[in-house]
Amino acid sequence: ASFMTMNLSRPILKSISTLGFSKPTPIQAATIPVALLGKDVVGNAVTGSGKTAAFIIPMIERLLFRDRGKKAAAIRCLILVPTRELGVQCYEVGTKLATHTDIRFCLVVGGLSLKSQETALRTRPDVIIATPGRLIDHIRNTPTFSLDALDILVLDEADRMLSDGFADELTEIIKSCPTSRQTMLFSATMTDSVDELVRMSLNKPVRLFV
Ligand code: AMP
Repeated sequence: ASFMTMNLSRPILKSISTLGFSKPTPIQAATIPVALLGKDVVGNAVTGSGKTAAFIIPMIERLLFRDRGKKAAAIRCLILVPTRELGVQCYEVGTKLATHTDIRFCLVVGGLSLKSQETALRTRPDVIIATPGRLIDHIRNTPTFSLDALDILVLDEADRMLSDGFADELTEIIKSCPTSRQTMLFSATMTDSVDELVRMSLNKPVRLFV
């Protein structure tokens, strides 16, 4: 497999090359072509597999070329992660991959003040990377915060979000998202509660087990 044959645009290929990724990892080779078509995906992937770039590369590509302008100045993508640390890692991968684009990421995790996050959110980022607890604070308490224009939802390390007790928060967040969206879910293990989350939040998902 090669990034060159995936129909990716130049700004992304340039960032992939700067990051030193010479070829896609198995989860990337499986996910990117399917995600570029806008399909829902379930991926069985652990940290270290390259799963972050597997969902961020097609996300950026679709943000660049689909419906831009129509939904200007609105949150287009939401990436939910179980911990602040994973959020920070995801933010770093995302901003590096988006270097040659005008796509902006915003981190919404615990440990940052609500005030500073409200200010960051007011700058209208395209992609929000958030932990469920902190995102709920904004859904409930920041009047201008809306997920109405969301195109893509990512549930990263879904098993961990569920075992960390975020099931109710996830349900509330998913209900705040439009139903006409693309959803990508990644999980190291496929438990009954992950299956239930898949049934609740994904539409005819393509299952990628690599
Ligand atoms: P992740 O599983 O997303 O946490 O990624 C694990 C590590 O693999 C990160 O440090 C990435 O920068 C790196 N990585 C992701 N994709 C590739 C690739 N295609 N080639 C080489 N390294 C990669």
